[in-house]
Amino acid sequence: MTSYKELGLVNTREMFAKAVAGGYAIPAFNFNTLEQMQAIIQAAVETKSPVIMQVSKGARNYANGTILRYMAQGAVEYAKELGCENPQIVLHLDHGDSFELCKDCIDNGFSSVMFDGSSLPYEENIRITKQVVEYAHAHDVTVEAELGVLAGVEDEVASEVSHYTKPEEVVDFSTRSGCDSLAISIGTSHGAYKFTPAQCTRDPKTGKLVPPPLAFDILHEIEKRLPGFPIVLHGSSSVPQDEVDTINAHGGKLPDAVGIPEEQLREASKSAVCKINIDSDSRLAMTAAIRKHFDEKPGDFDPRQYLKPARENMKKMYIHKIVEVLGSNDKL
Ligand SMILES: [Zn+2]
Repeated sequence: MTSYKELGLVNTREMFAKAVAGGYAIPAFNFNTLEQMQAIIQAAVETKSPVIMQVSKGARNYANGTILRYMAQGAVEYAKELGCENPQIVLHLDHGDSFELCKDCIDNGFSSVMFDGSSLPYEENIRITKQVVEYAHAHDVTVEAELGVLAGVEDEVASEVSHYTKPEEVVDFSTRSGCDSLAISIGTSHGAYKFTPAQCTRDPKTGKLVPPPLAFDILHEIEKRLPGFPIVLHGSSSVPQDEVDTINAHGGKLPDAVGIPEEQLREASKSAVCKINIDSDSRLAMTAAIRKHFDEKPGDFDPRQYLKPARENMKKMYIHKIVEVLGSNDKL
């Protein structure tokens, strides 16, 4: 048993309370490589932002749970080495699909876990979330739950259609499950293809796809019923067009990839939304830099030659999100 406290990590309780009160959101960046971790920590330290480093089940299988735990501990020490005296770093399980997986993460240094029972019947979702909460709270670990279904694909999580969260269920669900934060579905979506062209309109000037707006009416109704309760948005990459263009210009093939416009995420950050999940944008930033490098310097074969610009490009994106979209800078 390794407690996250031994690793220098924190849970989300105080961080979320401050974010809700302060009208900003904490970035939750997925990671599974050394370069992502370095870029996340450099960005968080330079902007003085708290940060959630999150790992999906697939990422844990890819990178190995033990290695990730030590990487998170390394992240805390690295932040201190970069001059941050009081790093606020969470190691979070993204989309835990069973009590056993959540327990295994809690026993191995995670400071926060998500149990995603959104595809289960309502009562079953409450029952298992509550079981996770009881174990987690005994170890001072915080729990994110989910109500409503997001469309899109993210590792093992996939759904063809979205089902918006029903505001009339949120009080009953959060009270009976005891969760610390709630992921809701208001039109965000997993992956780099968040909407089909048929769901979008086309901007007549640029020819680019314009996605349907988020359901702010549902968000505001939830806020009214659960005042001050931390709300989470998954699937909130904006799929930057310049990265997609770079990928496509250097041999990639991502036609009509579309994300959530940043203005809408900026607006959501000012509400009770206090955690915004961004994964695809990091994948795109990394892939764009590597494709460009391979195209321009076909003789290079030392991974450091192309992973360094990839790391720089991800860091630039993380800083942009923190400062220009979420507003979590200067909060340490
Ligand atoms: Zn998600």
